[in-house]
Amino acid sequence: MMAGIFIADTIADLEIAVAVFYVAVVLFAAGFLRTRGVLAVAVSCVVLTVVSFFFTPAGAYEAGIINCAISLCAIVITTYLALTKSSAILAEHEARTQLARLARVNSLGEMTASIAHEVNQPLTGVITSGNAGLRWLAAEPPNLPKAREALKRIISDANRASSVVGRVRSLSRRAEPKAGWLDAAVIVNEIVALSRGELDQHRIAVRTHTDDDLPLVLADGVQIQQVLLNIILNAIEAMANTPDDQREIVIEVSRHDGGFVQFSVTDNGRGISPDQMGGVFEAFQTTKPEGMGIGLAVSRSIVEAHGGRIWASSRRDGGAEFHFTLRGQN
Ligand code: ADP
Repeated sequence: MMAGIFIADTIADLEIAVAVFYVAVVLFAAGFLRTRGVLAVAVSCVVLTVVSFFFTPAGAYEAGIINCAISLCAIVITTYLALTKSSAILAEHEARTQLARLARVNSLGEMTASIAHEVNQPLTGVITSGNAGLRWLAAEPPNLPKAREALKRIISDANRASSVVGRVRSLSRRAEPKAGWLDAAVIVNEIVALSRGELDQHRIAVRTHTDDDLPLVLADGVQIQQVLLNIILNAIEAMANTPDDQREIVIEVSRHDGGFVQFSVTDNGRGISPDQMGGVFEAFQTTKPEGMGIGLAVSRSIVEAHGGRIWASSRRDGGAEFHFTLRGQN
């Protein structure tokens, strides 16, 4: 395409701005090349435009200069627009990948159910074979070969159960958080942006407030966003019966004692009853018909792996508050 344009541009008179068609080359390149590749193509187009200007035999020189300048501007502007658009697409792609990672937390519940099933099967087998073995031994005379078979089945079932438990253990061995020093306000803004669709759909207003001069926090950004997302999704569900005009989530980040930074999420939902309060962070504690009671348990283990603390409280005028702390930079 570039060669074609170059030849046409060189053959055509200087009055004809064939080089403008290089913008198509740039746009085409932006579709599948990375930034550097697009820049290389754009620079080649610029060079070819200038070269063909000098090689064009016929036409008015002044018109040629103007056409050449217009073509160069068009190439540069198109390159700039194409690159900014593709970086926006990349950012969107990244946000989607993050959301997918967060969605994995939801599948934890399903995973637990399937593990329970996998362990339960060999255990049932152990009981059945154990009973059969007892019967073979109690027979007159005892049927030792059959009893031995039953014992072998018990051993193989027990090994199966043990290998499932082994796999779960290696899965749940929490990798050390990949912590770095992050800006708390950025973490909060990103998670609000990610949950925007869900919040809008439930007509929930969000207010965020971050103290000035907050220190950076030591955090694995994705994991802390999982914690915030869990808390926000719970708040959304808790406000299902709150009148539309009072549905609000407030996210605050402030300095906490001992160099820690405190994140607080407040809602106007149904609140947490005193007898439920002690167990909200325990696994499998849920008041929802479809709930697994895993979200807050995972959140607690994430925050504690970061050296922080997480807790909940009830608001006097209704609603719940969730707080957690992360280490701040001195
Ligand atoms: P799940 O959402 O699957 O029930 P979680 O561990 O996230 O699991 O939450 C455990 C329980 O804590 C919920 O079932 C709910 O009863 C209670 N809870 C959590 N957040 C709130 C909130 N913002 N308001 C009222 N209750 C809440």
